[in-house]
Amino acid sequence: MTIVEQEQQLTVLETADVCVLGGGTTGVMAAIRAARMGAKVVLVEQQGNFGGNATSGMVCAWHTMMDFDFKKQIISGLSEEFLERLKKRNALRVVDPDWLGHPSRMAKISTYIFNTQELKIECDEMLREAGVIPYLHTVFCKPYVTRGRLQGVIVESKNGRQAILADFFIDATGDGDLAYRLGVPCWENQGKQPSTTAALVTGYTYVTNPKKILLDHLQEYNLPNLGWDTNYVNAPEVRHLLKTNVFESCLTAQGITKGEMEGRRQVRAMMDILNRHGDSDRELVLLSLSSSIGIREGRHMKLGYTLTGDDVCSGKRFEDAVGNGSYPIDIHHADKPGCTFWYLNGMTEYELDGYPHEISWWKPRSEDYPRYYQIPYRSLLPDKWENLLVCGRAMDADTRAYGAIRVMINLNQTGEAAGEAAALCLRENVGNRELDMKLLRSELAKGGSIVL
Ligand SMILES: Cc1cc2nc3c(=O)[nH]c(=O)nc-3n(C[C@H](O)[C@H](O)[C@H](O)COP(=O)(O)OP(=O)(O)OC[C@H]3O[C@@H](n4cnc5c(N)ncnc54)[C@H](O)[C@@H]3O)c2cc1C
Repeated sequence: MTIVEQEQQLTVLETADVCVLGGGTTGVMAAIRAARMGAKVVLVEQQGNFGGNATSGMVCAWHTMMDFDFKKQIISGLSEEFLERLKKRNALRVVDPDWLGHPSRMAKISTYIFNTQELKIECDEMLREAGVIPYLHTVFCKPYVTRGRLQGVIVESKNGRQAILADFFIDATGDGDLAYRLGVPCWENQGKQPSTTAALVTGYTYVTNPKKILLDHLQEYNLPNLGWDTNYVNAPEVRHLLKTNVFESCLTAQGITKGEMEGRRQVRAMMDILNRHGDSDRELVLLSLSSSIGIREGRHMKLGYTLTGDDVCSGKRFEDAVGNGSYPIDIHHADKPGCTFWYLNGMTEYELDGYPHEISWWKPRSEDYPRYYQIPYRSLLPDKWENLLVCGRAMDADTRAYGAIRVMINLNQTGEAAGEAAALCLRENVGNRELDMKLLRSELAKGGSIVL
């Protein structure tokens, strides 16, 4: 059944130079970079806080900013600024890559574990300092296009339905909601990486071998395979569980509703298993759940260039590179338990929580391997709309490349690049395709990014 929505006059909520949709870490960084360039920036987020997966989803780990050999720093910018500020709040644990007790290379490169609630407040502070105009609990609904140009967006909030007009737009919604509504082509990966409801619990650390107990009872409690967990920063009695795996697509109202409820069911099932079958006389207590399910993968937009697994594995250099990474291709399997990591040096690590890692090689061992890969600007660039860039999860990358670039230390750089590019396009009075890449890269460097 369909109905016709009445045409209506809308008030204009804001008029800005740059409008960023989606306030995950990518959107926050885009907004800050554009504002620091002097642009008037509005940031629109549907939840009650900024940070996206990193805060609402309680994803508490950022990976190394170094190249594969830990010899050269390849990532800096706002990620480093955020980490410095979290450190000052005593909200950061830093893993030493030289410590020999790491159970795997993955544990060695999972360098920064942070307090996700402190990050919420740090996002507020950094946005306030940059002068970004924030809107929380405000949902992007549809684009406003006149004379073939994207002029604004329609949003819904406590105020009702209103418009935000701007000269440039950045889609950082993770699923490319704005680009999708504009008709930019997109695709969905068939074996999408699972979504996860995170939980904070006490009592977990008193159970002997909790991973084995959980694995022994998976089928009985209708649980799929398990993700990871870690100690909460500066609160060792609290365990941070990112163990649920939800394979529901979160791209429809029905799907995301089912996904949220299934994630919470899985958390309760794990608590029940450990309370019933664990050997501790202390009961596990559920302290908190992520306020929104953590989404690893949604919609991918077809943009100016599809970054490929081969580009990543061969460390391909791009003249328009706006980001660097050394994080491996990391696929959470949809068709079997566990994750596989493909490292730049040719090593493959298969990880099933609770079991020893299995090591093999995807190419012959040699010293001749790339130490990092790059992310090009053209992978943020839609074909048609000259005042739009897409950054973050919805970027154009094939399954393997996405497995590598999807971590925040990488995607944050795409946000910074989009913000800087938006402000430069307005300053230079050019469209997103005409922007001089030398200029963009030099301004990124001036703003604190490492440009290679
Ligand atoms: C369980 C899990 C574990 C992970 N582990 C790690 C890890 O250890 N390390 C790591 O670096 N990365 C990890 N990742 C990946 C990483 O968290 C994400 O890829 C990254 O956070 C994506 O950032 P983003 O800003 O592109 O998207 P998101 O964080 O998803 O942000 C998008 C934002 O847009 C908002 N939004 C969406 N639609 C609208 C709309 N219509 N209107 C207004 N706002 C909207 C959302 O509310 C959200 O805040 C993990 C992800 C998950 C889910």
